[in-house]
Amino acid sequence: MVKKIKCPYCGYTGEPSDFTYMYETVLYMTENHVIPEERERPILVICPRCRQGFFLKSPYSKLIDKIMEEK
Ligand SMILES: [Zn+2]
Repeated sequence: MVKKIKCPYCGYTGEPSDFTYMYETVLYMTENHVIPEERERPILVICPRCRQGFFLKSPYSKLIDKIMEEK
């Protein structure tokens, strides 16, 4: 079962692996530790055709997590 992702800007539709993903991450520094922010952040999806970035809501986010783990 593979879901297709469609770009809302140019209409490009492709496999999740065709797109580029960016996580926005914030880290907090203390004296001895780096503490990742606990709040869940959306994943920015970059369209391979028009290079526009857009956000996806679940169920895509779980799927993308899996892709990121495999890389
Ligand atoms: Zn696009």
